[in-house]
Amino acid sequence: MLLLSMSTLAGAMVVLTLAAIFFPDPPCPLEEDRCGFAFCEVCMKEAPFACSACKTTRYCSTQCQGADWRNHQRSCKLHRKLHDLNDRIALTPPKRPPVGECTGCKVGASQGGRLAMCKDCGYQACGSCESHHSRGTCYCPNSNFGKKYCQMEPRWYHTNGRGRPYSGDRHPEAFGGVYAANIYEQTPRACDNCGVVTKVFKKEYRDPWVWH
Ligand SMILES: [Zn+2]
Ligand SMILES: [Zn+2]
Ligand SMILES: [Zn+2]
Ligand SMILES: [Zn+2]
Ligand SMILES: [Zn+2]
Repeated sequence: MLLLSMSTLAGAMVVLTLAAIFFPDPPCPLEEDRCGFAFCEVCMKEAPFACSACKTTRYCSTQCQGADWRNHQRSCKLHRKLHDLNDRIALTPPKRPPVGECTGCKVGASQGGRLAMCKDCGYQACGSCESHHSRGTCYCPNSNFGKKYCQMEPRWYHTNGRGRPYSGDRHPEAFGGVYAANIYEQTPRACDNCGVVTKVFKKEYRDPWVWH
């Protein structure tokens, strides 16, 4: 009886693991997908699905994913380890840069003129770096110099200060009147970035690539 229940438990765990692995996810907002090039690991066709465990390896169908599973197991584990590591690095607060030096280009205030400074992370940017797509963001993952990404217009240069594009909810209020109603989700809900209950953009419209 004990043996039976143990094997049932093991069986349930296998089923659970398989369910997690084989459930096809919608495309993940990974940076390499942003050019629209994502190909199936097996047949090189366009791949709208990613392995839901590692969210990295792409497949066109559950058939191809199934065919590749034996092969993929090792790299899947590796991908997950790397993602964990990246997440841990991303969560470590960056060192505050020395006051009076542009964090983007390292030029001092005297040479670069006025420096914009984020009170939260200490990032300072000169005028030129402030308008630059990758250097022009502070180190705060959910805001740029205190301005929440979810309240900004989707543009590709609104990244999260770590070189990763912001991919959360968006509800840019200042431009509220400009966007067509079909761009928003039908019912208001809590924004995943600021928590305010509001109408947020549909997933396909929050990606900056749609707008450019
Ligand atoms: Zn395929
Ligand atoms: Zn995987
Ligand atoms: Zn600079
Ligand atoms: Zn900041
Ligand atoms: Zn928000």
